[in-house]
Amino acid sequence: MSDSAPARIDSPGRLNREQALDLYLHAPTATLGRMADGVRRGKHPDGIVTYIIDRNVNYTNVCVARCRFCAFYRDVGSSEGYALGFDEIFRKIDETIRVGGVQLLLQGGHNPDIPLEWYEDLFRQVKARYPQFRLHALSPPEVIHISRLSRLPVRDVIARLIAAGLDSIPGGGAEILVDRVRRILNCYGKATADEWLDVMREAHHAGLRTTATMMYGTVETVEERLEHLFRLRDLQDETGGFTAFITWSYQPEHTELGGVEATGVDYLRTLAIARLVLDNFDNLQASWVTQGGRVGQLSLAYGANDMGSVMIEENVVRAAGAEYCMDEFEVVRNIENAGFVPKRRNMHYEILGDPFFREQDVPRMRELAVARADGRPGEASDLRGYDARSASGKRARKGELRTSEPAS
Ligand code: SF4
Repeated sequence: MSDSAPARIDSPGRLNREQALDLYLHAPTATLGRMADGVRRGKHPDGIVTYIIDRNVNYTNVCVARCRFCAFYRDVGSSEGYALGFDEIFRKIDETIRVGGVQLLLQGGHNPDIPLEWYEDLFRQVKARYPQFRLHALSPPEVIHISRLSRLPVRDVIARLIAAGLDSIPGGGAEILVDRVRRILNCYGKATADEWLDVMREAHHAGLRTTATMMYGTVETVEERLEHLFRLRDLQDETGGFTAFITWSYQPEHTELGGVEATGVDYLRTLAIARLVLDNFDNLQASWVTQGGRVGQLSLAYGANDMGSVMIEENVVRAAGAEYCMDEFEVVRNIENAGFVPKRRNMHYEILGDPFFREQDVPRMRELAVARADGRPGEASDLRGYDARSASGKRARKGELRTSEPAS
């Protein structure tokens, strides 16, 4: 991207596609940053930068979707596949609550051996044990996968999940919302651009708030990145259901697609143009998990007003090579050092208070946890009470295959 050509930066009102492309391609990076920072300041004049303490739990790595950019999934029947048990998930929630956490971000592979009833039972049990704890769970492609498995419309699946305790839906699986790109990445089958947006539309109509994401840096053009942003803006105009937008760069290590990671400047320019296009989104998160703390901190000058999640566990981008880790102490240090006031929030961006570690002693977490810290793969035994769809899953549940017990 060139910094040399002149940019039209004084267009009044809402950016259109042509103006956005002109800025994205030609505006100097510092100018884009100043413009995005102006929008951030207009929406958040109090100088507060928020963050949430939650835990990113990936309940299974078994997946039939086989996206070409993904280093996390394992095929059905793989000896490295796992599915967590309820007790393991409860233990993770207990640990999360001890460090001030308020929700689980629960996402996983498209595992044909985990039916809708498993999610309903899990959600009900979580809510019975932890009534205040929030479930931010199941990205749109997972909802579509469950809908196909259960042969129920997306609307009914969402209604049943809400009845069981679902609080909100994370915006994962959006990648780039252009079908040409999705076909190349082999994620067209899991959800087309329209299908992803339709799940979010249904969720918003059902009263749920959701986030929106964009993973850039694979095979898309600059115009396709912008198409993604404009499609999100259109849906937000329609429903107003998105709380926040998060963008991160593709992590190429250990993936079938390969390639190189986008640079830090590309990230900051992409964040800034998103802040300018998405004028109907209140919040933009910094993606320090993929960019590291230093670029994450810089994001606060390029349109971000939120540091996202204090990471306790991460398995997906970690599998693709990103291993950045910041506990609450580090997140707060980065926010304050950038001249902002740190506040804890929930998924609805309601302020919960000052940093938790200043209210009570919490253990420092200098390393990310993983789903199965002891490296044992396998299905938890409580899955055997549910119908399996795959041949290997059916055999395992009849006891013909050895499966691991949950780590305790
Ligand atoms: S990105 Fe998600 S849906 Fe795609 S292969 Fe990985 S786990 Fe499966």
